[in-house]
Amino acid sequence: SSGRGEYQLFDERMQVQVTARLRVENDMRHALEHDKEQFCLHFQPIIESQSGDIVCLEALVRWQHPERGLLSPIEFIPMAEETGLIVPLGEWILELACQEAKRWEQLCQIQRPLDISVNLSGRQLAQADLVTTISNTLSHANIDPSRFRLGFEVTETEVMRDPATAATTLQTLRDLGAHLSIDDFGTGYSSLAYLKQFPVDTIKIDRSFITHIMDSPADQAIVSSVVYLAHALNHTVVAEGVETIAQADKLREMKVDYIQGYLFAKPQPAEQLLILINQQQGR
Ligand code: C2E
Ligand code: CA
Ligand code: CA
Ligand code: CA
Repeated sequence: SSGRGEYQLFDERMQVQVTARLRVENDMRHALEHDKEQFCLHFQPIIESQSGDIVCLEALVRWQHPERGLLSPIEFIPMAEETGLIVPLGEWILELACQEAKRWEQLCQIQRPLDISVNLSGRQLAQADLVTTISNTLSHANIDPSRFRLGFEVTETEVMRDPATAATTLQTLRDLGAHLSIDDFGTGYSSLAYLKQFPVDTIKIDRSFITHIMDSPADQAIVSSVVYLAHALNHTVVAEGVETIAQADKLREMKVDYIQGYLFAKPQPAEQLLILINQQQGR
């Protein structure tokens, strides 16, 4: 309105960004109300570092957008968290995970229970009715717990926003039989002392500590310390983002219990993973 070129340019660029973002938000609202099938799950296995057995499948959401193609969660999860849309989206993700587990019950020969782990955002953790929603979805799905168990991943940053409430919620989820993991461990600001208050089973060491593990003595020291501490507190440890055989060997040597990363498998649709699982379980 001032008529100055630079300001106008700036305003236009801002306007473009705001409009684009608003469009994504509207598209998501529309999809959640009328076409939830646009959202689907890919699964990435977590394997036991000693045996190479698949012990868990992490559910990672994808959005098949009608115009923009397959969107990665980094393109829409932050917006969904800010707007609160993560709550209905999260409920749908949980339902999808249960549907998938139910289908696998028919299609897989499972020798021992497989965990299916779902990411929970802080907004979901703060919902007073989260536990009710989860237990309703679970009992509705009627999954055989001797074959599939649901698990949840929460980041320390989200848990630390309200540690007391989070601890209570996590304990209730655990009482339901869910396996709990602290995700992206090491990237937040949590005090190590808090660890003992959280009723979790597993600590997932963030990929940023794994990427340079081969040539960074600092990262090696951090990973060793986390493993030592986690084991002392009776937690198991997963290393995220393992991409090379050398890294896997190193982490196994460092007593990391489980590994996850492109080396073993990328996140992929269930159909492709089923083949892998049946090969393993049939052995
Ligand atoms: P995350 O939970 O830490 O998931 C791990 C991310 O690292 C995934 O990205 C995965 O594809 C990627 N990754 C796995 N192995 C490797 C590797 O070896 N190398 C590299 N470079 N990357 C690897 P993705 O699927 O794009 O998900 C990104 C983030 O979006 C997730 O990080 C999680 O925070 C969030 N997210 C994904 N699905 C959901 C969901 O269903 N609900 C919620 N609340 N958040 C989700
Ligand atoms: Ca995760
Ligand atoms: Ca993670
Ligand atoms: Ca991470």
